[in-house]
This record gives sequence, C-alpha cells and structure tokens, in this order.
Amino acid sequence: MSRLIVISNRVSVPDKKGTAAGGLAVALRAALEEHGGIWMGWSGNSSGDKEPEPLVMTDHGNITYALTDLTQTDVEEYYHGFANRVLWPICHYRLDLAEYGRKEMDGYFRVNRFFAHRLAPLIKPDDVIWVHDYHLIPLAAELRQMGLKNRIGFFLHIPWPPADVLAIMPVHQEIMRSLSAYDLLGFQTDHDLENFASCLKREEIGDEIGPGLFSAHGRTFRGGAYSIGIETAAFADFARKAASHSMVRKARQSIEGRDLIIGVDRLDYSKGITQRIEAFERFLGDNPAYQRRVTYLQVTPKSRSEVPEYEAMQQAVAEQAGRVNGAIGTVDWVPIRYINRSISRPVLAGLYRLGKIGLVTPLRDGMNLVAKEYVAAQDPDDPGVLVLSRFAGAARELKGALLVNPYDIEGTANAIARGLTMPLEERQRRWQSMMDHLLEYDVVRWCNDFLKDLTEEIAPPVNQV
Ligand code: UDP
Repeated sequence: MSRLIVISNRVSVPDKKGTAAGGLAVALRAALEEHGGIWMGWSGNSSGDKEPEPLVMTDHGNITYALTDLTQTDVEEYYHGFANRVLWPICHYRLDLAEYGRKEMDGYFRVNRFFAHRLAPLIKPDDVIWVHDYHLIPLAAELRQMGLKNRIGFFLHIPWPPADVLAIMPVHQEIMRSLSAYDLLGFQTDHDLENFASCLKREEIGDEIGPGLFSAHGRTFRGGAYSIGIETAAFADFARKAASHSMVRKARQSIEGRDLIIGVDRLDYSKGITQRIEAFERFLGDNPAYQRRVTYLQVTPKSRSEVPEYEAMQQAVAEQAGRVNGAIGTVDWVPIRYINRSISRPVLAGLYRLGKIGLVTPLRDGMNLVAKEYVAAQDPDDPGVLVLSRFAGAARELKGALLVNPYDIEGTANAIARGLTMPLEERQRRWQSMMDHLLEYDVVRWCNDFLKDLTEEIAPPVNQV
C-alpha cells in the first residue's frame, strides 16, 4: 500500500513522558509507521478570534503529525455545537437532547472545508486516506470538490441510527450525501450498517446494489461492519502486572474481602450511569444478605463539561451516589465509591481484575471498549462476570456476558445477583469464549481488515469522482 493519511478530530501525538496510548492510537500508529504517512487533526487549542497559524508538523519515525488550531467560534460551532450537541445525541438515539442551530450546522461544514484546505496540499495522488468519526463526515466531499481522486475511507466510532431517528436532524440529507463521497464506510456493527442502508433507501438517496455495495449521488461505494477491538494481549499483561501497583494494592486491601463490582465510564448520558446506580440499589434491596458484603466502584472521569447536559449530569450522579450511600451505608461500609477523575489504563487494568462483576450498561454505545478491557484483564483461574447492556456494540460479539436491558432496573439487579453466585466452571467457560474472540479480533486486526478493504478494487461500476 502507498502512504496512509489519517484524519481525526483529536490526534494522539506521542509525548516526551512516553504516556501509554490507548488501543486505537497504538494500532493507527503501527499502520502509519508501516506505510509511512500523516496523522492530521485539531490540536485541541483555540486561536481565539485570530485566523489559526499554519499546520504544526512534527515527525516521529515514519509518521508526520500535523495539527491545527481552530478559532473560538469554530470550536463552539463545530465541536461543542454540531458534533456534540446534534450528531452525538442523534446517533445515540437521544432526540430529546439534540439542539439544532443553523449557525452550528454551518460551522460544522465550514470547519470540514477548512480541514480539507489544510490537508489537500499534503496529499499525493496515490495516498490512501482514512477519516475517523462523526466530527469529520463531510471531509471527503470537500476533498472531492477540490479534485482529489484518492481512495478515501471513513470509520464511524459511534452508532448509526435508524432512518426515523436520523430524519429528525434537519441536515440529514446533506450528511447522507457527504457519506457517499467515500469509497468505504466502516461501522461498528452489522446493526449500524443495516441502519445506514435503510436510511439510504428511506430517504430515496440511494440503494444497496449488492451485499455491502451502495450507490448514491452518482457514486458507488462499499459499507461494512468492522467491530473495533482492543490490544488484548497487551492489556491482559497490564492487568497481570498491575497487582503490584500501589493504587491497586490499596484498593484490594480497602475492600477487605468484599466482592467488588466495577463500572468505568466517561460521564456521559449514553452510559446509563444513573440507571445502573438504581439497579445496584435495587439489588441490595432485593438481596439484603449482600449488604456490607459488596462494594461498587464507579470510575467516571468528567467529560464535555462545556455542554450543559453534561454539567447537569455531573451533579445528578454525585447526588444519587450520595443518596444511596446515605440511605444504605453503615459506619464501616460505603456501598458506592464514586471517583470523578480519570485513572490511567494500567491501573484500571488492575482494578478490572479485582472486580467480580464488570457492570457495563450503556443505554446506547457504538462499541464500548471498557467491556472488552474488563474481559481481557481477568484472571483465567478465577474470572469475573461481565454484565453487559444489549445496546452496546460489544454485545454483538461478547456472547459470554450476561446481557441486560439497562432500562429494566430489576433485570439488571437480577443479573448482578446471578453474576455474584455464578459457579467457577461457568465463569471460566463464558470468559474463555470471550477472551478467544478478543484475542483473534484485536485492534490490529480491525485496522488491517479495514485498510485491506479500503485498498481493494471494488466491483464496477467504477467511480466517477
Ligand atoms: N478510560 C481511561 N481512564 C478512565 C476511564 C476510562 O483511560 O478513568 C479509558 C478506558 O480504558 C477505555 C476508554 O477510556 O479505553 C473508554 O472507551 P469506551 O469505548 O468504553 O467509551 P468512550 O469514552 O469512547 O465513549
């Protein structure tokens, strides 16, 4: 393959401290290193009301990282506005939380054009371009406008909604049109791909002309499900080694032989944290023998605090955890430990391993890597049980989990009880099936599968760009 060009809203640039990167960054860096290439995106900084300086380019080995600032108006309209207050809620089926504004929509398309103009001069004719996630849907259309004929793929890390949900968004036709400028569209699951195909049809934008082959706006392109994995073997290794980490040791000592239930989520309304706390409370109410015998640790780093819904949620979750602790806790037992900060992944790996139950109950999630990390971190001799929402993309793969509907509080409470009493032999059987899958379909496999399909010639009719 020729050079690879990756574009994502934020870029994982290696830092001087050598901070451990997440699985996605590791896999993309490996692919970029192999083929040579550029990773471009937003620096995360605002240039205020001044025009951003030219791209800042840094070379690390075979990879050039290219970062741009955005003006404050761009950050507000493109990022906080359209990406996080329209696309994010719509794609997570939260029509009630979407806030449309013409200004934000215009800002979103404008920033994509700006990215295209900064990127285009760096592109050679045989470069393969891979665009990531919902912030940058219109990027390929902008590049095509500028005459680029390169192979361009897009991967959506979040869910794609059904046609009726998408249609609520005023510019949905424009968003669908933008997607037809790619050569390959990657979704997390077959359900997302089905939703996309039905959106094309329902809106009379295009058609599925063969399995995974679409035609719309005079172009032919492919779509597929590529479920993102984690760096399974490395994560399992972190977890084995983490036992000696002081924070993990302290956690083990402080739970004093109680069973640990663990939840780890960014503070986001899609994660079902309040329903989960309710389910835990219900479990304790239904199973009083477990009172004082379990501890539920919820690790929830703050996120997107500039968006009002997130700020409100921050307070709601803290209050809810406080209320349950006040109502059920005793002088020597705090049922819920709530940490409202980020924990490094090597330490998280050790905490997952202490958890008898990994409680992963999003109301809607593209994939949910925490579910996969929890499984990879388990001790094969005494693995914990994953209680997983059926509405997480990961539920399509992790069949050894106890699947729950997170809206069904009683059902989730029952799954917690079942998990805590599950015999060792059943836990091992379930865990092994999930671990085998995660080892086979890790993040490197995901990256290679996508790039292989992106670079392969597609069946005729050949694209007229
Ligand atoms: N994570 C972390 N520290 C924390 C909480 C989460 O490093 O305190 C990481 C976690 O290990 C996982 C990622 O953040 O890799 C969350 O990914 P996921 O797909 O579960 O959810 P997202 O936040 O992308 O919606």
